[in-house]
Amino acid sequence: MAEAHQLMLYNTLTRTKELFEPLDPQNVRMYVCGPTVYDYAHIGNARPVIVFDVLFRLLRQIYGARHVTYVRNITDVDDKINARAAEEGVSIRELTERTAKQFHEDIAALDVLPPTVEPRATEHIAEMKVMIEELVEKGHAYVAEDHVLFNVPSMPDYGKLSNRSLEEMEMGARVEVAPFKKDPKDFVLWKPSKEGEPSWPSPCGIKKPGRPGWHIECSAMAAKHLGDVFDIHGGGIDLVFPHHENEIAQSRCAHTSDVMARYWLHNGFLQVEGQKMSKSLGNFITIHELLEEWPGAIVRFNMLRTHYRQPIDWTRKSLEESRVTLDRWGELCDAIGGVVGEGWLPSSEVVDALCDDLNTPLAISRLHELAKQAKSGSPAQAEQWLASVALLGLDVAHWVSPVKIAELMEVTDPELATRVKGLVEARSKARKAKDYKESDRIRDELAGIGVTLKDSKNPETGEIETTWEVDFKMIPR
Ligand code: AMP
Ligand code: ZN
Repeated sequence: MAEAHQLMLYNTLTRTKELFEPLDPQNVRMYVCGPTVYDYAHIGNARPVIVFDVLFRLLRQIYGARHVTYVRNITDVDDKINARAAEEGVSIRELTERTAKQFHEDIAALDVLPPTVEPRATEHIAEMKVMIEELVEKGHAYVAEDHVLFNVPSMPDYGKLSNRSLEEMEMGARVEVAPFKKDPKDFVLWKPSKEGEPSWPSPCGIKKPGRPGWHIECSAMAAKHLGDVFDIHGGGIDLVFPHHENEIAQSRCAHTSDVMARYWLHNGFLQVEGQKMSKSLGNFITIHELLEEWPGAIVRFNMLRTHYRQPIDWTRKSLEESRVTLDRWGELCDAIGGVVGEGWLPSSEVVDALCDDLNTPLAISRLHELAKQAKSGSPAQAEQWLASVALLGLDVAHWVSPVKIAELMEVTDPELATRVKGLVEARSKARKAKDYKESDRIRDELAGIGVTLKDSKNPETGEIETTWEVDFKMIPR
């Protein structure tokens, strides 16, 4: 497997698609910036989680599951956390623990594999302090008014990742230049804590207790778990500047290395129904809310229909379309009777599509083709299709199609099934008698118990036929 597939990845650092060659194929190493835990994660946050989960699965497929180390951190010290804890009147620990638990529950429903290591910032303060002191010793950082600041001009090629001119960067920094900064672009490595904020004894002989800046957290956690230089670093496109630029500056200057990670991958942004997602527009969707209405597999599949570098427009219409595909695939899975067996290999066409900079839309269109063959072909083709679907992390073997739910309901709740069927018939009669008021009333009554009606014209008889689907939450588990 390893030799047959060449993995190409678009590297933000070089702005080209490059052949991926790990430093050590026995231990391929990837770091992805994780959530800051102060509130439910939103659907935009789910994008890097799902995208890099697919990459993790692909790397495991190519190099072997035991030869990939994936680190995704949890940021549990941050201004937003302090503010929210104060607002809610709870301790910081209570807030971060609760939010991290919610995050884990949400993404588990999206069939995301746990990373190999999930480090927390507050458990790596000692490593951050060591790194900060190294940066001061090497002349890349300085102490000023109980802060430690990274001195940007000390690094001649700062800015390579975001490819910004120094002028642009200065414009960005000028908004809040603290008077003690030597250069407006200098950024915080450590700062004093205010009353009530989390604090630790400071490095560099600073008397006042303090806390780390955001960027140093990732540099220290990545070095601890992956080494000074590693293979892949990922996150959303908004993190390129300043977060990733500053991570690179800290890590390279502390470790005297040419790069921090060799391949930098960034997912595009997600918007909702054509608009930027924001609380003020009222179109802000948390993963938690979405999962109330849609099964996680649909959310995951819908995310993967767009290439990870493209912007994605999250719409109800595309969720509906995703549902139709998964229903069809779920039925096919039932028909060919399968859970993926040990050692089954995915189709090389699907692997190749993913190896082309994680081209999930192409992989999906190939899965559609392969589904046709799986339906009428040999058991080997069915096996290959199932293994390929599993490579995208889509658990169709456990997908319960609406038809199957209706069948299951006949067994688990025959009384309810009889009531539903009676109501569907009564509605058909009302429609035939053109009593639309009554037919709408029945439709609403059915909706109230989680049943959706689908009317479609029978192409042969021309008659309207009604099928019904049950809300996925009524699936007997
Ligand atoms: P945060 O908790 O804000 O640091 O975000 C966690 C991750 O979600 C980062 O990788 C962000 O780049 C990513 N992210 C945040 N908002 C969006 C969005 N609307 N679309 C795609 N990715 C996003
Ligand atoms: Zn980070």
